[in-house]
Amino acid sequence: MESTDSGSQQHGGDPGPSSVTPYSPPATPPSRYESQKRRDWNTFLQYLKNHKPPLALSRCSGAHVIEFLKYLDQFGKTKVHVATCPYFGHQQPPSPCACPLKQAWGSLDALIGRLRAAYEEHGGRPDSNPFAARAVRIYLREVRESQAKARGIPYEKKKRKRAPTVTTARIDVAPSRQSEGGGGCNVSDPSVAEAVPP
Ligand SMILES: [Zn+2]
Repeated sequence: MESTDSGSQQHGGDPGPSSVTPYSPPATPPSRYESQKRRDWNTFLQYLKNHKPPLALSRCSGAHVIEFLKYLDQFGKTKVHVATCPYFGHQQPPSPCACPLKQAWGSLDALIGRLRAAYEEHGGRPDSNPFAARAVRIYLREVRESQAKARGIPYEKKKRKRAPTVTTARIDVAPSRQSEGGGGCNVSDPSVAEAVPP
């Protein structure tokens, strides 16, 4: 049985699913990446469980992964301006607008990387890895390009301090880390923790 600790914070001893541990972690505590990966994986499994109709991991395709990413957008914290917004293409709008919040491309890209690895660590075959599907890559590229236009941020270039949400490369499950809006230092806002109802 998978644990359903979607709301829990950083207590480190979560044993994870039994019988599917393909490697023995060393004595050191898992790295931030490793624990993030495990949380993301559990989030995805939870999503499959709640899917209507229920979706088995083995039947999961790239299209389902894209569906999952779109589903996560509702929990996003990154303002993405619509084309008709006066701030379309502005990195730092002077005032708020009504445009939707989404998951930043960088967060989705990093998330997919972790899930792709997790899938194979849990016994999935690389050639049937839905997270590595071409459709997913194309979708991510489209998100990147549209967000680059909408937010005036050149994703091709390396991270810039001026655009805090873009530097985000992980999805933080701990709700306490969230900070709303464009404060100077919210480098970790997008969260999928609340993506999964308990
Ligand atoms: Zn806007």
